[in-house]
Amino acid sequence: MEEKRPLPCEHAKKCGGCQLQQLSYPEQLKRKQRRAEELLGAFAPVLPILGMDEPIHYRNKVTAAFALDARRKVVSGIYQPGSHVVVPVDRCLIEDETADAMIVTIRKLLPDFKIKVFDERSGTGWLRHVLVRRGFATGEVLVVLVAVSPIFPTQKHFVKKLLEKHPEITSIVLNINDHFGPVVLGTREKVLYGAGMIEDVLCGYRFRISPRSFYQINPVQTEKLYRTAVDFAALTGTETVLDAYCGIGTIGITASGKAKQVIGVELNRDAVADAIANARLNGIKNCWFTAGDAGEYMQQMARDGMKPDLVFLDPPRAGSDERFLSSLLRCAPKRAVYVSCDPETLARDLAFLTKGGYRVQKLQPVDMFPYTRHVETVVLMTRE
Ligand code: SAH
Repeated sequence: MEEKRPLPCEHAKKCGGCQLQQLSYPEQLKRKQRRAEELLGAFAPVLPILGMDEPIHYRNKVTAAFALDARRKVVSGIYQPGSHVVVPVDRCLIEDETADAMIVTIRKLLPDFKIKVFDERSGTGWLRHVLVRRGFATGEVLVVLVAVSPIFPTQKHFVKKLLEKHPEITSIVLNINDHFGPVVLGTREKVLYGAGMIEDVLCGYRFRISPRSFYQINPVQTEKLYRTAVDFAALTGTETVLDAYCGIGTIGITASGKAKQVIGVELNRDAVADAIANARLNGIKNCWFTAGDAGEYMQQMARDGMKPDLVFLDPPRAGSDERFLSSLLRCAPKRAVYVSCDPETLARDLAFLTKGGYRVQKLQPVDMFPYTRHVETVVLMTRE
């Protein structure tokens, strides 16, 4: 029987972000292990999940929605699941505490600088979200204000005040988003202070991260994740490696010292620019990055008869697609390492690849998201 505890967080019932918080941490790990075994156990035995020593305040990125409540008071926090109702959250057990404090400061400063929060019902106002990203290793902090227009009359004084209150902020960006879909950040941005990005260190390498680039949100566990992936790759120095869905190049760069060359492919152009800069930042000369759809790129590699020796693939939750996977079967690298943040789409993709001649050798779950239901898994596959 799973032990039930009182909910540790006052927002638990409304927020819905931490689905497992009625369980102790060891029970959460057991539940995730069972889930990985149920979904993936048929492919190979599942190694014991790698948990966190201190599973709190692990999120290095915090996004707060700003809105007016029913009494037209400004609130900031998290959308209630499936709605646009903002649950006011000033402190969260899994978010970085410095980031949370900055968001509260910003909310309190708004009236002094005549900044209005955007109101979805009337379509008036300006500020929609605040995103804070902190490099845990470097201490650098980026604050992104997401607003409906670039017009910000009190900008200079606001920036000065915010920096006075939080001198640890290294950059402030204004992002313009006038689309009302689920995506927080728009495509236009203006740097108000600093470099417009932060740097962080993972596995001994330095990485620059632009506001719209993907970066793993739990750096402590990310090091375990990448070390597992590179370890599974068992590179000897002679291999050509493809890092598919490479983001800012973190996995490829971490593996580059053990490979002959690394090619990374990624859809988000900002992330590709970061990846190229990151190779240079670390004095690495055997990594190349290109912008495009991973499936299309893999298909082209298959057509050209290019044969990477090893493929890392780290797709989003939806998993990979048939174009990528069938081209992978055609290129037939001896080894492939799949890093997955969703065991269901992973099981689907593994079924496809094992039918095509791969064998799953190792499955290593890593707890990247304590208190939530999400399960991350690293998989080693080899060709029979
Ligand atoms: N490996 C990186 C990024 C993983 S997240 C890391 O560990 O940080 C998944 C990445 O896939 C995101 O950067 C996203 O922009 C990218 N992506 C999504 N769809 C893609 C596609 N069809 N082709 C290439 N990249 C894609």
